[in-house]
Formats: sequence, C-alpha cells, structure tokens
Amino acid sequence: MLLSATNAVKAKLINLWVVFDAIRMNGGISRSGIADETGLSKQASSDLVDELIAMQFVRETKPSGRRVGKPPTPLAIDPDGAFSLGFHVDVGQMSAIAVNLAGDVLHREDHALNDLEPHHAVIQLELAARRLLASARIPDERFLGIGLATPGPFAVKGLSPPRLPGWDGIALRDLLREATGYNVSLANDGQCAIIAEWRFGASARRLTNFVYVYFGIGVGSGVMVHSAAFGGASGNAGELGHLTVVPGGHDCICGKSGCLETYVSVDSAMRHLSTRGIEVQTMAEFAEHVGPADPVIADWITQGVEPLRNGLNAVENLFDPQSIMIGGNAPDWLIDTFMERVEPLLPSVGRVERTLPRLMKSELGADAVARGAAVLPLLATLNPLYRELNPYV
Ligand SMILES: [Zn+2]
Repeated sequence: MLLSATNAVKAKLINLWVVFDAIRMNGGISRSGIADETGLSKQASSDLVDELIAMQFVRETKPSGRRVGKPPTPLAIDPDGAFSLGFHVDVGQMSAIAVNLAGDVLHREDHALNDLEPHHAVIQLELAARRLLASARIPDERFLGIGLATPGPFAVKGLSPPRLPGWDGIALRDLLREATGYNVSLANDGQCAIIAEWRFGASARRLTNFVYVYFGIGVGSGVMVHSAAFGGASGNAGELGHLTVVPGGHDCICGKSGCLETYVSVDSAMRHLSTRGIEVQTMAEFAEHVGPADPVIADWITQGVEPLRNGLNAVENLFDPQSIMIGGNAPDWLIDTFMERVEPLLPSVGRVERTLPRLMKSELGADAVARGAAVLPLLATLNPLYRELNPYV
C-alpha cells in the first residue's frame, strides 16, 4: 500500500488541529503566542485562529490588566462551541456522559447493563443518548457525535473479551449509528483511557509518547504516539492481555497459553477464586466482596507479579514511553498492590536518564474511559492524524 501523500489541504487540517490544541493547552494565549508555540508564521496562525473562531470552537476574550498600547487579544476554547456524548460499555454496566468542547461533564447516567447482545444493548444506549441530549440541552447543529468505548478486541474470529462470548463492538457501533442517526466513533477501553489522561490528566496532559495499561475484567493498553492514540490496522493495537508472559502457562481464550490476561485481569482473579469455591461474577461483586487481605487473592497476586513485570518490560522496550500509566476500572487497591509489588522493574530501555517515573498511577480513575470516549467525536472531526491511525472513526 502506498503511503498517503501530505498535500496542502491535509497540511492545513493538521495545522488547524495544532492551533486548536495550542489554545487548549495555553488558555489566554495570543495569536503571536501561538506562532511562537507552534512554529507557524504569524499570518498562518492568525488565519487558522480566524477559521476556528468562525467554527465557534475558539473565542476571543478580554485582555486582563492595564498596559501601554494595544494589548494582544487572549484566545480560549469556547466550551459551548461543540458537544459530544461518551459511552463506556462494559460487562454488566454502562456509563454515559454529555460533555462540552472543554470536556466538562454536563450530565451523566450509570446503569446496569446485563444483556450486551448488540441488538438489545443498543436500545438502552439510544434511550440514554436521547435523555442526555435533552437534559444537557445540546443544540443539534453543535453536536459532533457519540464516542463509544467497549472492551476489545474487535472482529477477531473466535476471540472475544473475557466474559463477553461472541461480543461484537463494531455491530453495536453500527446499530447505535442507525438508531440515533449520529456519527459514532469506536475505540477500546484502554485507548479511550489514554486519550482522557492525555487531555485532562494533570500529569499526562503534557506527555506526547506514553502507554496506559488498563486493568479491568481483561487487560489492555492504549498507546499514544506523538500525541495521537494509535489504533492499528483493525483497532486492536495495544491488546497487551494476549502477550505471552509465561511460556506453557495458563490456557487462554485466544488459543495460546501463558497470556498476561490469564494472570493479572479481574477475570483471572474470579477464575482463581472459583477454583477455591468462591463465586464472583461481576466487577461490582468483586469490588464489594474481595480485598487485598483475602489470602486467596494474596496468593493470586503473588502469581501475577512476575508475568506483569515481563509484560511491562515488553511495553518499555517496544515503545520507549515517557512513562507507563497504570489504571482501569479494577478496584484501586488491586492497581496499587500490583504497582507496588511489580517493583523493581526489569532492565529495559526505560533505564535511560529520565525526569518521570517509569510507572505512574492513572489520575482520572475509572471515569477516564467515558471521558476519553467523549473526546473521540472531536478527534474524528478535527484531527486528521487520529483519523489516519484509527479505523472506527
Ligand atoms: Zn491470550
């Protein structure tokens, strides 16, 4: 396949995103400040600002303080310039949020979702979408669309996320698009979590190359390459759960043995508990009934430490990230315990002289996935790099 050419139109679209992001990252920046920040000429950056103002994504604000001469006009993202919805669909539960262009959560709904068969689940999702659009009073002409986060992988024959046999996230996305008439962008939970940390996290918002390892029912990851979340050829990039970390180890649903997911996911904890006669079926039950002091769980964690160490070592050597962020919707104590026990990390390129720790804890917690999902429509609309790196925009 030929590489796609960078023509003037595409270069302009990329620059439009760069200017938008410079304003987002530096609220109150002036036109000449954007030129300094981005390396664009003053004229080019000013023209792009005008375009973003015409789109109502950016507005001019009042200069503060007194000074001699005409002060530069500060620019800011216009929060009411656009809106989107974010859905996080997972085994047994869903969260749905309505956000404005600044990413502020205007309304949210959380529901049990016990039947994830796409034709059934879409009914609940559509109703939630309609309610959120009404309660947040989102005008149709300012609505960018819906971002949908679900467990992966997508469309791999015979391989479904743990506890979701026959799962088809792409079918749910297509059905939701049909039912609502809106554009629906799809990405997996790890990819959405990293997008949220990169946009809203206090520590990660200035990172450009990092990896997010997501602990949930399964284990996945999101990869940020030069400020663009990388989806891969089929939206399945970062499927870390199926990395072999223990040759000849536990059997995995993917047909291999020794995959990381069979050691450190909540699904693997539930299986381990089940072999000891303790039945836990959902994340909510797990969070409520299981704790770090439980000797059965302590034993399971001990077995998972070395496989996790191997998995993180592969991530460091493959991607050379500024840091690896650890998070997910698994209970906090589980994430904290693994982060503590996995040290010391194995030798890797991560030993380069560095300013950030090799591992960081997620700051947005379990909410990251819905918030990241809500950013997908903006990326699909305004960021050509995201469209290139992700198949389900
Ligand atoms: Zn596997």
